[in-house]
Amino acid sequence: MSEHRVRIFDTTLRDGEQAPGFSLRTAEKLQLARQLDALGVDIIEAGFPIASPADAEAVRRIATEIRRPVIACLARCHRADLEKAAWSIAPAARGRIHTFIATSDLHLQAKLHMSREQCLEAAVDAVRFARQHTDDVQFSAEDATRSDIEFLCRVVDAVIKAGATTINLPDTVGFSTPDDTLAFFTQIRERVPDADRVIFSTHCHDDLGLAVANSIAAVQGGARQVECTVNGIGERAGNAALEEIVMAFHVRRDRYPYAVGVAHTQIYPSSEMVTRLTGQGVQVNKAIVGRNAFAHEAGIHQDGILKDRRTYEIMKAEDVGAPWNPLVLGKHSGRHAVQKRCKELGLEVEGAELVEIYRALMDIADDRKVISDNDIVAVVSGVRGATAHAAAPGHVDPFDTPSAAGHHALHESGYGHGV
Ligand code: MN
Repeated sequence: MSEHRVRIFDTTLRDGEQAPGFSLRTAEKLQLARQLDALGVDIIEAGFPIASPADAEAVRRIATEIRRPVIACLARCHRADLEKAAWSIAPAARGRIHTFIATSDLHLQAKLHMSREQCLEAAVDAVRFARQHTDDVQFSAEDATRSDIEFLCRVVDAVIKAGATTINLPDTVGFSTPDDTLAFFTQIRERVPDADRVIFSTHCHDDLGLAVANSIAAVQGGARQVECTVNGIGERAGNAALEEIVMAFHVRRDRYPYAVGVAHTQIYPSSEMVTRLTGQGVQVNKAIVGRNAFAHEAGIHQDGILKDRRTYEIMKAEDVGAPWNPLVLGKHSGRHAVQKRCKELGLEVEGAELVEIYRALMDIADDRKVISDNDIVAVVSGVRGATAHAAAPGHVDPFDTPSAAGHHALHESGYGHGV
């Protein structure tokens, strides 16, 4: 692989799935794993087998069925965890055991009640044991970014000698900043003698909203694997969002000359599937996959978009597989956009009629934030019906058959307030 190739390690099914409210059944995990395969991720972390028999079974079924990507699973530095992990990935075409232990003094003292020496020994033992089951072993130093750097370098050096092939240095609690992260990866790679023999990996959490920025900084510091999740789901504020990293690399390839294997047009379908399976939607203004990510309501913006999309868009919705319905009609919209939407609905309006329709729609927008197609049909029909009625009683306007709701609104208030 080229030195600029960055591996995408998707942990939607592990870190994402273990967040409150995001758990999935085995059949759903399999369905998502197939989509992640279509998306083109390099590694799928499929679960944490020791967590439950169902988790182990799901990892094993994914390892059996999904053949292209590496299938990884998580294990603490305990024999039982590692044995369960080895069983779970045994059927894989390419299976990875991902073992971890915390290296910060805070975690060692408060959580694990271990000395640094005990931690080092457990890490080395776990990696050696894992290597008996697969030659693809990833070691993570949990809370790496808050660990003593001298000790962290000792651990990393020791686990590389024990056979680890990927070294992940997580910002477990989302405490780092981009400049910290760049310096951190640069220093560790300089200090560890065999750093060139392994792939360094980043795993950032979004507690300060810096997960994506930190992940990119880690890559600039030499990391060649990024751990991330679809929609940025994960513990607490979540993980780095896969779609944001991939599109940052794509749109700003002038600044980030890194290659990833992801199929961009599968980004939105993947996001939708995660939303559907977990029942947890993304915020409307979420970058890349939010409902408003490619939508424009303000008249000046709509006018620009109608003239040339590049005025207010740096990438195309179609490029990430999202539908492009850019003009949202609301009270900030202009007449041009209203006219265009009417035309799309088969309604040619102009001149005084357009002015009247526009005013009626803006009245609705004052009350309801967004104008729907039903509102438009109802208003046009109302305006035309009133004119037709005055001019030629009994005339049936072809557009005077809106939805029942629209019709009702017309009777109630003329131009479709309420409903
Ligand atoms: Mn995590």
